[in-house]
Amino acid sequence: MTIIKQETNKPVSHIKSQKTRQFYTFLHKQVLVLLGLSLGPGIGYIILAMVNGVMGRAVAWYVLMLMASAWGYRLYRQFDYHTMSTADIESWYKSASYFYYLIFSLWTVVFVLFAPLHEVQMHYIAIFTQIGASVVASTLLFSDRRLFVPIILILIVPLALYFLLIGTWYGYILTIFSIVFLWVLYYASSSSNQLLQKTNFQASHDQLTGLYNRNYFIDAMQQVVNTLRNNQGYCSLLLIDLDHFKTINDSLGHDVGDVLLVEASRRMQSLVSRDAVVARMGGDEFIVVGEVCATYDECYESAIYLAENLRESLKSTYDIDNHNLYISASIGISILHKPELNANQYIKEADIAMYEVKHKGRDGIVVFGSEVAEKVERNLEIETQLHHALTNNELTLNFQPQLDREHKVAGCEVLLRWHHEKLGHVSPAEFIPVAEKTGLIIDIGNHVIEESFKTLRDWYSQGIELKQLSINVSMRQFFHHAFIDTIERLSHHYLDEQLRRCIVFELTESVMAEEIESLVGSMNRLKDKGFRFSIDDFGTGYSSLSYLRQVPLDEIKIDRSFIEELSENASDQSMIEMIMNLSQVFGMKVVAEGVETPEQESILLNGNCDLLQGYLFSRPLSREAFEKFYRE
Ligand code: C2E
Ligand code: CA
Ligand code: CA
Repeated sequence: MTIIKQETNKPVSHIKSQKTRQFYTFLHKQVLVLLGLSLGPGIGYIILAMVNGVMGRAVAWYVLMLMASAWGYRLYRQFDYHTMSTADIESWYKSASYFYYLIFSLWTVVFVLFAPLHEVQMHYIAIFTQIGASVVASTLLFSDRRLFVPIILILIVPLALYFLLIGTWYGYILTIFSIVFLWVLYYASSSSNQLLQKTNFQASHDQLTGLYNRNYFIDAMQQVVNTLRNNQGYCSLLLIDLDHFKTINDSLGHDVGDVLLVEASRRMQSLVSRDAVVARMGGDEFIVVGEVCATYDECYESAIYLAENLRESLKSTYDIDNHNLYISASIGISILHKPELNANQYIKEADIAMYEVKHKGRDGIVVFGSEVAEKVERNLEIETQLHHALTNNELTLNFQPQLDREHKVAGCEVLLRWHHEKLGHVSPAEFIPVAEKTGLIIDIGNHVIEESFKTLRDWYSQGIELKQLSINVSMRQFFHHAFIDTIERLSHHYLDEQLRRCIVFELTESVMAEEIESLVGSMNRLKDKGFRFSIDDFGTGYSSLSYLRQVPLDEIKIDRSFIEELSENASDQSMIEMIMNLSQVFGMKVVAEGVETPEQESILLNGNCDLLQGYLFSRPLSREAFEKFYRE
């Protein structure tokens, strides 16, 4: 318990270390190199000492060297970056530093032991090995300034003193040479070190914002996970995605987008404690690590609090290049508490939670938990089962009547229904997005179109003469390369010129956000054949006046949400009046969907609404039920 308490008060300083994985693994590798370079030449000393009859001190020294090496080897074996916690790594690093000091000090010891032995010429060897050792030290340890500076001093200062004590002119010159040599080694190591620091910084930081990058973050995160695993604390991970950032980038240019990202980063950084890590995962996605807490609830609360603050701060106006910009954020949170998961899996959880926010309409916060997990599982199940839905004939079409101002059935909207024996009735609002994501929408969409065409033709021959049949077309379906060809092929097969004029394709406003030129091009090709277009859920997306002018639409479908509050809400009423006026200007029909009360109906009929659709008149019906409804 005490351990946990200690951890609680400490912010996540342990994740923010200037030293990267590369730093430690490099030092780790050098341990083995140094062992080889010490034990090998050490044997040489013993042999020379034996020849010169000074065996005793050489053996004593070598035994010390062997002991130090055994310790070094143990340190070498202990190191495993991926399972060690931050504290483990720090303590390993400390021991490794002592090991390096020790080995090089031993080389100074052997120098001091043998340099005075002029009579047997051992001083030549001693001087040479001391110079050799300093070169080795500056080469192996250049990555760590705190190590190589004192160690070079430990090695060269005795050498310089030795030359000085000779007391002759060549002794003084050699002293000066030693000092110059010291400076050269220092200079070379420092330059390499600076270069390495720079490379490390670039490798671990995002260039634009200066925040940590994904690579560094995942490494550091794994250490936090390891630490929590040992100490049983809790910590949170916040994945922050800016909403509709792409729109800003596309409409105002990347320069403005970049400035916004930098400013957003600055705001996030200023909100978290100075030690905590904020990283840019790429694009407009950021990640923040919350505090380490003792309990799950504490962690949950503090994560929500932090997320709220981040959201608030990101939302205030950005003043860039004379533009006043607003941007909201979707934040997914994952709480680190399952010891079996690794860093990547936690990031994945936060990602899923973030997508849940997007799905719910963005600008919000979701914590990954059993509810979200279940939903993901259900989506997965939907995804798997949807593959068989077509071949198993589980998909059927419903038709919701559209009434004209005289209450006559003028048309209908085709709505897809899926009944699965295990999943039950699945709403298209649930499975269409899955179909879009997986690409199944192409086959499913083609099926809907073929069945709709066939139905329209059959109805005509049975005397059910509709003025229009509306078919929903999703974005991915519309922009599929074969879409137009498929329509042409199917209409050739089932429809004549007159029936083609009945078909209305409903596109949502999100389609409008795509490449306008290719959108208009495709629409015109189909319009030439007689097909019509409607904009679905109008008023909920981003269509602007200029879009309405450019896109050849025949109909506007006012979103249900506006109709819903029609009787109570004066502003919605004026909004609808505006839409109706607008449609008149552009020569488009107006359809109101989701009409549920007579009150709503009368308001709509007071304006110039052309078609009405909603539960007030009829729910979506099966084919037979629709035929009956039409005849009555
Ligand atoms: P949508 O195109 O906006 O369709 C209207 C939705 O509102 C339908 O839900 C309909 O049943 C419902 N609705 C109609 N009148 C009322 C009313 O008076 N009150 C209320 N509360 N709801 C009403 P549904 O059938 O669940 O479809 C949901 C969405 O799924 C559709 O929204 C459409 O975007 C999509 N969808 C349905 N069928 C297809 C399809 O064949 N292809 C594609 N791409 N999308 C489809
Ligand atoms: Ca629709
Ligand atoms: Ca709609």
